[in-house]
Amino acid sequence: MEARRRVQEPRSQFWLMSMRCCIMAGSIDVAFFFIFLYLGSPILAWVNVLSVPMYAIAYWLLKQRRNRTAVALIWIEVIVHAALGTLLIGWDSGFYYYLLMFIPALYTGNHTLRSASLAVFGLWLFYVGLYAATRLIEPIQPIVDSALLGVYLFNLTAVFCMFSYLSLYYIMTVKKAHKVLGRMATTDPLTRLFNRRHMIELADRDIAGHQGQGPGTAFLLMDIDHFKQFNDRYGHDFGDRMLCEISQILSASLREQDYIGRWGGEEFLAVLPQTDTQKARLIAERVRASVAGHDWAQHALTTPVTLSIGVSQHLPGEALSDSIARADAALYAGKEGGRNRVEMALTV
Ligand code: GH3
Ligand code: MG
Ligand code: MG
Repeated sequence: MEARRRVQEPRSQFWLMSMRCCIMAGSIDVAFFFIFLYLGSPILAWVNVLSVPMYAIAYWLLKQRRNRTAVALIWIEVIVHAALGTLLIGWDSGFYYYLLMFIPALYTGNHTLRSASLAVFGLWLFYVGLYAATRLIEPIQPIVDSALLGVYLFNLTAVFCMFSYLSLYYIMTVKKAHKVLGRMATTDPLTRLFNRRHMIELADRDIAGHQGQGPGTAFLLMDIDHFKQFNDRYGHDFGDRMLCEISQILSASLREQDYIGRWGGEEFLAVLPQTDTQKARLIAERVRASVAGHDWAQHALTTPVTLSIGVSQHLPGEALSDSIARADAALYAGKEGGRNRVEMALTV
């Protein structure tokens, strides 16, 4: 049994996704080489051959983490390719669609809003200029209409697929970031237990959800005894490790439905939903005994490590802060009474 806690965070996959895009684009260019040779547009066929090493170099650069150079190379390839394809066989080839993929990339990349907007404007000018050029001059190496339609549909399909992949990537990134931020906002970074703010939210929610039938919420406020002396004697880092280990013991000693969080320095709060006073006392005793009975020999620690616990039960109509204040008063009584004790709160 383990009370609810949080887990590790995932890593970003941005550069892996960019490398996959290089492989995808390079493969499309290989296919295009044969397609344009077959369609009788050798210049375009050889343009595609030149594109393959460019993507191979971009892939290698990404692998070396020379990301800026790689991105610049990809930009040059796409722009030159779109321009040459359009000028050689005409606007209806659909090569210009690839340029559109830069818009979301620019706005979601590591640019300021101003520089991204400027780059998008420049892209728009290039787009319009390319269109105007195809109105003024005839395609340099035209292909038959049916072949042109085939190239158009191929480009359209490729861009649809790449856009879907990129959109999926962007939304996954946003969702992951959202999850990480949510975890950071609710978790204590040292112990990985819930933090004080989140414990207040959970406790408030639990109290509000109680319909008046059966036992209400119980609280255990726990404080490590003489913790300062461990810091003083063995150092602050060791104290931190003790806090982490004690956090694990506390989580493991509580029930599945209980919540545990770090309330302050060496203080912890457990929220026990639908738990009467007797049950809360038993659980508190179990927690106390687990900590007191833990074997610290692997840390060469012979001094006993104990904690004191104040237990309160939420009273009808009582504010959360008052329930916890009563648990705190009981905890104080436990300290006064000799420590390593469970003390029940007064109900008035
Ligand atoms: P008592 O039995 O009365 O609770 O005695 P105590 O020594 O535990 O209480 P006191 O309030 O005097 O000291 C608490 C200590 O906890 C002091 C502080 O340096 C230590 N502490 C608080 N937060 C951390 C932390 O994040 N890491 C470490 N290593 N120590 C911490
Ligand atoms: Mg203490
Ligand atoms: Mg304390």
